[in-house]
Amino acid sequence: MVARQAWRMLQSPNALWVHVLKSIYFPNSSFFDVRKASHPSWVWTSILQRRDLVQLGVRWNVGNGQDILIYQDKWVPTLPGFKVTSLSVTNSLLSYVYELLDHEEEWDVTKLNTCFSSEECRELQKIPIRMCSDSFIWHYDRYGNFSIKSAYLLAIHAANETDRNHDNLIISSAEWKHIWKMQVPHKVQVFLWRALLNSLPSMDNLLRRGIVQEALCPFCHLTDESIMHLLFYCPHVEPIWFGSALGLDPWQLGVGNLVEWWRYIKRVARQMHFPSLSDYCAVVC
Ligand SMILES: [Zn+2]
Repeated sequence: MVARQAWRMLQSPNALWVHVLKSIYFPNSSFFDVRKASHPSWVWTSILQRRDLVQLGVRWNVGNGQDILIYQDKWVPTLPGFKVTSLSVTNSLLSYVYELLDHEEEWDVTKLNTCFSSEECRELQKIPIRMCSDSFIWHYDRYGNFSIKSAYLLAIHAANETDRNHDNLIISSAEWKHIWKMQVPHKVQVFLWRALLNSLPSMDNLLRRGIVQEALCPFCHLTDESIMHLLFYCPHVEPIWFGSALGLDPWQLGVGNLVEWWRYIKRVARQMHFPSLSDYCAVVC
């Protein structure tokens, strides 16, 4: 089965066939970040098609924490999505899990308390640190082994959840009212309104309407230009957020859509007792 091949790519990164595929299709990125090449082989296309299936249940098994990104990667077995989500703006410079350890290679509890919510601190401290390489495991098997049956059951469950969660991606009328009351120029409100409805002329929207032939970002030429890429993840835009008063790194936040982002900013504004923070972010957008 091709899904099993996708799994083996993670399990056997030093195998010759993995080296060959990596050198051709993703020499400088991870398996989960790579996009479809322009003329891929049948084998590679099939593996990429099954990658999402594998991604649903795979997570890092923490060893020494050298390869695991704190905010982007899935590595905490007892948290939703296996990810940490609480973020202290002042500690957003930490990148890898090993940076959360002390000199005795144990969790640095003071640092954890500064960076994460009390619930996440508690769950992180349950993870044993082992001085071996980090590795991938299949979460839904007691021995960490991938199985096709388990993966497909997971995919069906995820599809049902997606249907159920769709309503969470819709801005409520109270949230719209907040946007229209913000003390910002009207054109900023209109821009934000269009962005939240995904009606800005980003390249992926223009492609959907048949206006352009491809959706590649015209600034970085690295990936398709979606609203999220345009406003947050394009390498030309990231420095604006990082250089702002908030010092945010969009990649570390790992927020997947603009509605989630907007709610995150409003939460931070409340925590910081900074009522105009969301107004400020609207202007940055
Ligand atoms: Zn770009």
